[in-house]
Amino acid sequence: MVKITRPTNSNNRINKGRSMKNISALLCLMLMWFLLGCVESNSSDEEKIAKVEFGLVIHGGAGNIYKGRYSEDEEKEYRLKLEEALQAGYTILKNGGTSPEAVEKVIHVLEDSPLFNAGKGAVMTSEETVELDAAIMDGSNLNAGTCAGIKHVKNPISLAKAIMEKSPHVMLIGEGAEKFAEESGLEMVANEYFFTEKRKQEIKIIKTKEGEENLKVYRDKSFQDDMYPVDGKFGTVGCAALDKHGNIASGTSTGGMTNKKWGRVGDVPIIGAGTYANNKTCAISATGHGEFFIRNVVAHDISALMEYKSLTLQQAADEVVMKKLMGQKGSGGVIGIDKYGNIVMSFNSDGMFRGYITDKGEPFTAMYKN
Ligand code: ASP
Repeated sequence: MVKITRPTNSNNRINKGRSMKNISALLCLMLMWFLLGCVESNSSDEEKIAKVEFGLVIHGGAGNIYKGRYSEDEEKEYRLKLEEALQAGYTILKNGGTSPEAVEKVIHVLEDSPLFNAGKGAVMTSEETVELDAAIMDGSNLNAGTCAGIKHVKNPISLAKAIMEKSPHVMLIGEGAEKFAEESGLEMVANEYFFTEKRKQEIKIIKTKEGEENLKVYRDKSFQDDMYPVDGKFGTVGCAALDKHGNIASGTSTGGMTNKKWGRVGDVPIIGAGTYANNKTCAISATGHGEFFIRNVVAHDISALMEYKSLTLQQAADEVVMKKLMGQKGSGGVIGIDKYGNIVMSFNSDGMFRGYITDKGEPFTAMYKN
């Protein structure tokens, strides 16, 4: 016979006591979970409070830019040029201009300066010419314009903007792109306009057997910057801006990599790799070893982490630049802004020429780590 044991009163009391304990433990856990949730959502909510009415952030390339490398005068020269670019964008934004307008103007200043690897002073190809790439993207409508292999347009960023605004296309290259530039009334120059003595020397050294070998070693071991024979910093320029209308945009301009061959095109004019903007997430401009930025679709990857995983701009940029790229020895960095005015400047190299300015009107510039 099966004996059914009925719970006694004392068993009942014990069980009741236990379930009360269980319930209170559960309530405690739920309360903790709720509180933790509040803390977490507060921290990302903080990111979603408009910090500034407008603002912009720039870079002038990343690479082996370490303290002691530049003289005080050289440092000053770089910082002044970065400040000039920031002020140019600030004036446009302050007067109600749009973010693509500010991006174009800022990049003009940097393209016209021989200090950077864009426009005048860009690096040379193995054929000892200059071939330029540029891109711009408007985060308010996902419109974009990009150009590659440009030899005669004084300001490639303006060509990119004209492609975005006046053509039904996103990307134009080489002679066709230059024909479009002429038809759009852009200023054309001889290829020699872009040459500087420094770049001519640089390409000569790199083209020696030893220089080529050093460059190869440098690129294979991107982080051992001191192995690079001559300049070694990348020097591309870029800008991301938020305007008073709440729209963001970004743009990038470059001569690419020194001694490039065979019509090589880097990440800059590849939308999603070196340049990307979307009001929903962020506007990004990258600089670094382009092949890594293309393979990892860096700029869009940062945007996707924000869109699909709710990461903040800083978290998303660090995830891609400091973890993913670094894991592959992909040297470089990004700058970016979101529609709330959060700004990021993340890089895994020794330094990155960089700066930002907001509606407060005080420019910040820096070159080295920390
Ligand atoms: N990302 C550029 C390229 O690979 C180089 C640079 O940033 O300076 O073309």
